[in-house]
Amino acid sequence: VSQLRKCPVSNRWVIIAENRGLRPVEFPAEPKRIDDLPCPLCEGNESHTPGELAAIRKPGTRHDRPGWQVRVVPNKYPALELAGELEPRGDGLYTWLGGVGAHELIVESPRHVVSFSELTADEARHAWEIYRRRMAAARGDDRMAYALVFKNSGASAGATLEHAHSQLIATPVVPGNAREELAGALEYHQQLGACVFCAMIERELADGPLLVEATRRFVAVCPYAARFPCETWILPRRHASHFDTHPEDELGELAGLVQRVVRRVELTLSAPAYNYLVHSAPFDSPPAAHYHWHVEIIPRITKMAGFEWGTGYYINPLPPETAAQRLRQPALAAEP
Ligand SMILES: [Zn+2]
Ligand SMILES: [Zn+2]
Ligand SMILES: [Zn+2]
Repeated sequence: VSQLRKCPVSNRWVIIAENRGLRPVEFPAEPKRIDDLPCPLCEGNESHTPGELAAIRKPGTRHDRPGWQVRVVPNKYPALELAGELEPRGDGLYTWLGGVGAHELIVESPRHVVSFSELTADEARHAWEIYRRRMAAARGDDRMAYALVFKNSGASAGATLEHAHSQLIATPVVPGNAREELAGALEYHQQLGACVFCAMIERELADGPLLVEATRRFVAVCPYAARFPCETWILPRRHASHFDTHPEDELGELAGLVQRVVRRVELTLSAPAYNYLVHSAPFDSPPAAHYHWHVEIIPRITKMAGFEWGTGYYINPLPPETAAQRLRQPALAAEP
């Protein structure tokens, strides 16, 4: 029996259609790419990328030379660039502004590994530390309104390079998805006087069916109106609206949880392509009581078809309660 569920954050509707009968074993594995070209992101190939913007390096090693652990470079084919005209223009019908923004590539290991779950614990922690620092740097540019840190892993998730990396795109306007979440969360706060994310965390920690894993400071849950099979959100247990001001010494714990959730997803769904992204409040907002920063992990095994494009409703064949139950038991889920 299928069910229409409303996401309490975005007010978006999702169709949970278990009657479509898909079981995780029926989800195809992501094809492995075999590429003979030298990888531009591997240690030793620093000259194949634009010059580095930031890095975490071994002591005594030089800029744009080997010896780094995490390295940030401008995207060679940026969607947006730092120089340009920011003043919005329009002719009454059409509105435009220059493609001003930042587009950075965060290379997460000097070794050629693919998934975030293959990084060492130190590499994973460094990656999250540098995400936070780059987000803070973007916030320091007063032309920017918002930045998204995201990862594409696997060709079906949009990755064009196999080597483990993430990206940051800063934009001069707040994107629609962020506005939708902010508006929904504000509405909940106005009606019920609480943060909708905190309410969700509290309910699931009290023995909720959507809990995947909790650590001292973070929690991983499948959202009630999950759009995708095994979609999982990770949230700080303490309320905070902005990721870029989160204490850096807590990010190792977060990185470890992200690695375990990715691993759980890989064991449950035969190593699918996936995206993850960091949702944080817009730069110009002061610390907000209604919004709670979080990470969304999105396995890419379902496709958006005409109905999804036409309505904005997603159809998810795996109820999130079932997904959470499978994700909690990766050893069982890994059995054929
Ligand atoms: Zn590589
Ligand atoms: Zn909260
Ligand atoms: Zn979100």
